[in-house]
Amino acid sequence: MSVTCKHIMQAMECLAPQNLAEEWDSVGLMVGNPDRQVRNVWTTLDVTLELVEAAVEAKVDMIVSHHPLIFKAIKRLDTSTVSGKIMEKLMQGNIAVFSAHTNLDCAVGGVNDILAQMLHLQDIQLLTVNRSEKLVKFVVFVPKDYEQVVFAAITKAGAGHIGRYSHCTFASSGTGTFLPLEDTHPFIGRQGSLARVDEMRMETILPERLIIPVLEAMHAVHPYEEVAYDLYPLYNQLQTTGLGRIGTIQPVSLRNFSQQVKQLLHTDVVSMVGRSDQMIHTVAVCGGSGADLIKQAKKNGADVFVTGDVKYHDALDAAALDLAIIDAGHYPTEQPVVARLSQYLSEKFPLLEVKSNISQKNIFQLC
Ligand SMILES: [Zn+2]
Repeated sequence: MSVTCKHIMQAMECLAPQNLAEEWDSVGLMVGNPDRQVRNVWTTLDVTLELVEAAVEAKVDMIVSHHPLIFKAIKRLDTSTVSGKIMEKLMQGNIAVFSAHTNLDCAVGGVNDILAQMLHLQDIQLLTVNRSEKLVKFVVFVPKDYEQVVFAAITKAGAGHIGRYSHCTFASSGTGTFLPLEDTHPFIGRQGSLARVDEMRMETILPERLIIPVLEAMHAVHPYEEVAYDLYPLYNQLQTTGLGRIGTIQPVSLRNFSQQVKQLLHTDVVSMVGRSDQMIHTVAVCGGSGADLIKQAKKNGADVFVTGDVKYHDALDAAALDLAIIDAGHYPTEQPVVARLSQYLSEKFPLLEVKSNISQKNIFQLC
């Protein structure tokens, strides 16, 4: 089956649901036709003119970016400007662009989870809890002896997570009935004859974004021609996420930790606020521009806050709170997600050619 732009959009929705994005944000398909066939994808932090020119040259079908290609409303397209040229080349090259921004910041396995992992934080928790996901109840009726295979498929696809517990399901036994009509090929019973079958009612919950993958996984292993299943919307929203993460490290001085940050995030430059000999044990992180979370980081007990784009007055606020800051830059704190996006799409679509980090580098350099 060929991969279309819509398939990539659905996969991205599973990773970073759009309802996790800030209200002011601009996310989703920026340019392109959802039905267009896609053979190769580039993942990137930014859609720059240089990148788009290289993508046209390489005949790329789709670009998946973190920063939105179109952020503010466009009133005119002047192709003598850089942004106008980017749009012109994308349209001429028939290249689709999809962006996942603040939804990818918050997402499980997104920008901030990856940043926390890159810095080897332990016991990683959310720094803010300000997003909730809609949950649905999923019920499927399975003939006896197929319970285990369906259980394995749907839980592998992500169904059955409640808090820090996975594989949460409930099964009860009963009798199912059906009468196969014309042009059917029943797995059990025969056409025109009422069947009474020992079945299991299996039920679990899943986030709304996983409905398609869980149904696909279930259908792939369920033996029935027509599967009886129900999806119920729920009022409980147990799964929450938010911006920033917080965790612990082995105690180390701020000076040494800032050196570790440089090394782990592959950057030559960091700015530091705090006493170089103060000991660091609890670390808060927020990729990109996270200064708004300074107070939250302090409130949650962080010794240091690793983020980017910290302004002078933000640094003063942090110093007044006795919270150390390591400003590692916008690019180094977000760039690791680009490789993760490539890995994710490659795993989802084995036939797709996916490349990350094309001709991009940190524009801030040590001098
Ligand atoms: Zn950013």
